[in-house]
Amino acid sequence: MIDAHVHVWSKDELSQPWLVEPANAKIARAWTMNDWQLQAGRDWRAIVVEAVDSSDVSERLLLDLAGDERVAGVVAWVDLKQPDAAEQLKRLADGLGGAKLVGVRQPGNVPDAHSDAVDAIERAGLILEILTSPEGLHQVAELARAHPHLRIVIDHLGCPQFSNEGMATWLDALHGLGDMVFMKLSGLYGSNAMVASALDQARQTFGAQRLLYGSDWPILLLRGDDTYTQRLHWLKNALATWSESERNAVFDRTATFVYGLDRTEAR
Ligand SMILES: [Zn+2]
Repeated sequence: MIDAHVHVWSKDELSQPWLVEPANAKIARAWTMNDWQLQAGRDWRAIVVEAVDSSDVSERLLLDLAGDERVAGVVAWVDLKQPDAAEQLKRLADGLGGAKLVGVRQPGNVPDAHSDAVDAIERAGLILEILTSPEGLHQVAELARAHPHLRIVIDHLGCPQFSNEGMATWLDALHGLGDMVFMKLSGLYGSNAMVASALDQARQTFGAQRLLYGSDWPILLLRGDDTYTQRLHWLKNALATWSESERNAVFDRTATFVYGLDRTEAR
């Protein structure tokens, strides 16, 4: 089984602006794959997603995780707005640990549909991961139309606002996304009823075969008293009426396909 959204960072990253904010004090320490495994157990592998806006830090992350069998892949940070984005990518892919590189993200930025950086990601056989609001999903739809073969993963179901109006805006944005756009069931922190409704809408509109589970650990520790296992238990209950094949997709098959994990292992 695959947890497709895990963050780890070292104590070198504790001066990151977002980590020194008082609201994040609870997670202001180093987190390792051992910490994650204590929560997840031995049956899971992780996609580790960058948490620091720096391709140098991503390079170190790849190096640190090279050889770690619990890590199925790494999504690195690249500055897609810079003309040297393709070189940043190549440096990460060719560096030590580069075999684990499966994708790229730059939170908050939906690249232009005709950006050279996106061409480079597509050519390298990597995925583009996008953290954006429902408003940004319209741009993602355009990007996906311009790159029909590029696999795009949307974090946190596209960050719906968990209100009636917010959900309507979000649902409207889901309809335009093409077949190669996938969405993570991660980072969903509304009321349980609202989140359950978003899961159902995503299944109906998008199809369970294009959804993948991610814990957003350790960020999830900031949202109430839920622990990793409580949250996972809640999600499994919410998906209990889905078919076995749909649940397999969410907890394994979609991530394996999207991130090319069978290919990564063959390398
Ligand atoms: Zn995250």
